[in-house]
Amino acid sequence: MKRILIVLLALATLSACRRAPVIGISSGRSESGAATLSANYTDAVVRAGGVPVIFPTVADSALASTLIRMVDGVIFSGGPDLDPSYYGETVWNETVEVDTLRDVSDLLLMRAALASGKPVMGICRGEQLLNVVLGGTLVQDIPTQVDTMVRHNGGVRHRIGVEKGSVLYALFGQDSLTVNSSHHQAVKAPAPGVRVTARADDGIIEAYEYGNQVIAFQFHPESMVRENDAWLAPFRYFIQKIRGK
Ligand code: MN
Repeated sequence: MKRILIVLLALATLSACRRAPVIGISSGRSESGAATLSANYTDAVVRAGGVPVIFPTVADSALASTLIRMVDGVIFSGGPDLDPSYYGETVWNETVEVDTLRDVSDLLLMRAALASGKPVMGICRGEQLLNVVLGGTLVQDIPTQVDTMVRHNGGVRHRIGVEKGSVLYALFGQDSLTVNSSHHQAVKAPAPGVRVTARADDGIIEAYEYGNQVIAFQFHPESMVRENDAWLAPFRYFIQKIRGK
């Protein structure tokens, strides 16, 4: 009996000491050298019970691996377009804006994060790049490459259809959601193993999962949180998943 009590006490102490999950978030760098990341990402992680840490841009794989070792999960944030050479294409038109430094950094961090087995969330550019790292391709410019009546750029809102059985469906219990949209690129060919979980009415991919490790959104839940607390759900899910590990 005494031994059982001691074990129970030890377990209680252990769980009480367990710190809140630390979430690394990728950032960019402006031309003047400032690190760039919307505080909406860090705010959403804090409100969901996590501890956000902003990753700098990195240029070598050892540093990327060290940063990934320091955190419990990683969010890859939005930003400019990926250089299409990473998926075997040349630049389609003048709307494609690449940032070589950020491409190198994000891809190093993504490879390290995926290899670590730690939970990963991709948002907008993060969603697109993860698909490329996993072996997929992108639409370079929706308005000129896709025959669509849906507007995706310019901070509009549109409907998405959500697959039953997906994380997104479990979080909201709805097969139709309205999301924000400020992107001109999107996932074209999903990588092997990527499960598409939401599409806009024109078929553009708006969310996917990759095994149990990656959830990815083309839209910006961290911005919608400002108007509607319900959009904390993906971040709460992400933090809870790490806690449960
Ligand atoms: Mn969209």
